[in-house]
Amino acid sequence: MNRLDIPLLVQKQREFFLSGETKAYSFRRSQLEQLLHLLLENEEEILHALHADLGKSPFEAYATEYGFTMSELRFTLKHLKKWMKPTHVRSPLVLFGSRSRIEHHPYGVALIIAPWNYPLQLALAPLIGAIAAGNCAIIKPSELAPHTSQLLGELINQHFPAEYLHVVEGEVEVAQALLRESFDYLFFTGSIPVGKIVMEAAAHHLTPVTLELGGKSPCIVCQDADLQKAARRIVWGKFLNAGQTCVAPDYLLVDTRIKEALIAEIGKVLREFYGEEPLKSEDYPKIIHDRHFQRLLSFCEDGRIRYGGTWDPAGLKLAPTIMDEVGWEAPIMQEEIFGPILPVLTYDQLDEVIGKLQRLDKPLALYLFTNDQAVERKMLQNIPSGGVAINDTVMHLSSPYLPFGGVGSSGLGDYHGYYSFLTFSQRRSVLKQTNRFDLSLKYPPYSTQKYAWLRRLFK
Ligand code: NAD
Repeated sequence: MNRLDIPLLVQKQREFFLSGETKAYSFRRSQLEQLLHLLLENEEEILHALHADLGKSPFEAYATEYGFTMSELRFTLKHLKKWMKPTHVRSPLVLFGSRSRIEHHPYGVALIIAPWNYPLQLALAPLIGAIAAGNCAIIKPSELAPHTSQLLGELINQHFPAEYLHVVEGEVEVAQALLRESFDYLFFTGSIPVGKIVMEAAAHHLTPVTLELGGKSPCIVCQDADLQKAARRIVWGKFLNAGQTCVAPDYLLVDTRIKEALIAEIGKVLREFYGEEPLKSEDYPKIIHDRHFQRLLSFCEDGRIRYGGTWDPAGLKLAPTIMDEVGWEAPIMQEEIFGPILPVLTYDQLDEVIGKLQRLDKPLALYLFTNDQAVERKMLQNIPSGGVAINDTVMHLSSPYLPFGGVGSSGLGDYHGYYSFLTFSQRRSVLKQTNRFDLSLKYPPYSTQKYAWLRRLFK
């Protein structure tokens, strides 16, 4: 689709939305079923595209992208009818005789812009919410995951009418051309700088927006943590997708007294998961492109490498790397790492951790390994983050019962499960007044007696 066609596409989608067809439960359901059918029919092609783009093993691609998307779809199909029902609420005394309800209405035409790291899941999970809520949608996948982008284009564009759903592939200029149009909802997943560009574009048209961004998610390991379990869960969450995960633990903050024991456990787990030669492991993905690869290599000089630190430039693979003796001022600590390098920093007192993290940008996730409930409460009360996992990493994202999103610089708004439906729906208040009587209290002329009644009403 060239740039000139974009305004026409948006116009066609708006006309289709105004026809009202997308609003019926039966329509939403059949479109979700169609998407489910497409995914079922094309499982092999999808897993293949994810391998071609990121070297994801079939297991990882299934768990974090294909299976995740399928379960979002099935969950939505199961609950959609109930979600669409209006919520009846009480009316206060001043509205005596009336009835009140909250309805959920689709916004209209939504734009979904997706990144490259989970190119299937992060394009389709918001789309499921947009369809469920009764919107039309344009999806702009990432040009940096070209195989998945192309497959998404083929699947959606060949099986849904363009005036309802359409994938627009392309580079940054295409995203910019899309952002010049007036949409009814913008859903963006990606980096903080581009998130700001999207929010500016949204401000221009006063379009509501969800921003799913990133940041440095800290992982705190306390002295009382179960080190064996902590090591397995940290290694899994950090090196999944070779660290290119928005909620990957970015760095460890470990009680000084257990640092060496934890590093030793992590070393054991790394060997168990990826063998003695992780660069040859079929289960270990690659870095998306050379620029990102070179950026990560430059971080390898920011501390003492305890494990890993080897790479294969031809395959764009960087071994899972554990690094200590890293200062807060090192380049690796100035930006989201988004790759398989795990710096280990230490603390002596938890209050130091609180003082430090309160002064940094609010992260997308906070990870805490402890069995002490008082520590848990204290950390949650004092350190903000989009989401939290206690004694685990990343897995909070996998629950359709939990809203997923950031706060501050890590994002705005949330989704998954019911929260995706809510995100793409306008919450609309409806008051239905009775015609059986008409209380005259609010009407002029305002007598002293009316004033006395009014004062009583508000007590
Ligand atoms: P990115 O911001 O570079 O690109 C995301 C999308 O925006 C792509 O489709 C791209 O074409 C488009 N884009 C790029 N520049 C643009 C511009 N100037 N104007 C308009 N559109 C533009 O992000 P990325 O490199 O693809 O993804 C990595 C980032 O995404 C990381 O920061 C990561 O933390 C974040 N992320 C967040 C989540 C989340 O759910 N919160 C999930 C995955 C990734």
